Amino acid sequence: MAIKPCIAQKDVTLHIVRTFGIHMSKKLGQNFLIDANVVDGIVAAAAITEGDPVLEIGPGIGTLTQGLAEAGAEVTAVELDRRLLDVLGKTLEGYNNVRIIHGDILKIDISREINKEKYKVVANLPYYITTPIIMKFLEEKLPVELLVTMVQKEVAERMVAKPGGKDYGALSVAVQYYTQPEIMFIVPPQAFLPPPAVESAVIRCTVRSKPPVEVASEKMFFRVVKAAFAQRRKTLANGLKAAGLNKDDLEQVLTQAGIDGTRRGEQLSLDEFAAIANAWTKLLNAN
Ligand code: SAM
Repeated sequence: MAIKPCIAQKDVTLHIVRTFGIHMSKKLGQNFLIDANVVDGIVAAAAITEGDPVLEIGPGIGTLTQGLAEAGAEVTAVELDRRLLDVLGKTLEGYNNVRIIHGDILKIDISREINKEKYKVVANLPYYITTPIIMKFLEEKLPVELLVTMVQKEVAERMVAKPGGKDYGALSVAVQYYTQPEIMFIVPPQAFLPPPAVESAVIRCTVRSKPPVEVASEKMFFRVVKAAFAQRRKTLANGLKAAGLNKDDLEQVLTQAGIDGTRRGEQLSLDEFAAIANAWTKLLNAN
């Protein structure tokens, strides 16, 4: 393994960006880590062992990639900014366990790039597309066992939120349906260059082998969830009506599910969403 200076330091990062004439792009969410403890914390949260296949999203100048490579991971890293490819070629020179791919993580065929039975996703995510990235991995049922990502603290709080509060929404339900999420630690703006305007958090989402609730149709489950949160101030009954249930069917579905239609979506647990979705599916199948 190569002996290299740790990139996760302010002076090293400044030296790299100046040498290559890189201006960090706000549009691409380029806030590079400059705190080695945070890199180590992410690598530890992902429990990397020798030979672990890891997909990294947005390696930037190679800061977290270096931490993963040093821990022995087999890293495939996807970077959108073409300007960074030369930089990465230099900063990660000598690590033969790293493969850099140029592309947009939302557009590339991931299974073609990382053809493994199981792999981990580890990333300091670009904040402008956090939710679409996480949802892509979950909805497409890619063979991911764990996602350890840096996100805005507020987004992490929404991912782990329980029913009843303002943070609970469609993202909470989806993340908790597919994974067991835990906030590992909070990261202050000073850990990045340039510092973002908000606090961040590292969240670990362990993908479930089977959802925590039984649903007859996942499509219907998420249709109900979407309807329930579409207009937060509406009652559940009104939300479901707007989603296409007529008055008679609505009554039947709610009775069968044992749920009071005057409640609001933000009060419903995953079990209750599943009960509504299953009652609706049953009604459709009976007709
Ligand atoms: N991993 C580095 C670190 O921790 O210092 C950089 C993280 S920075 C927050 C996010 C990175 O994602 C940037 O390098 C940015 O260019 C890249 N990026 C932004 N949009 C992307 C996309 N759609 N696909 C792949 N990479 C993207």
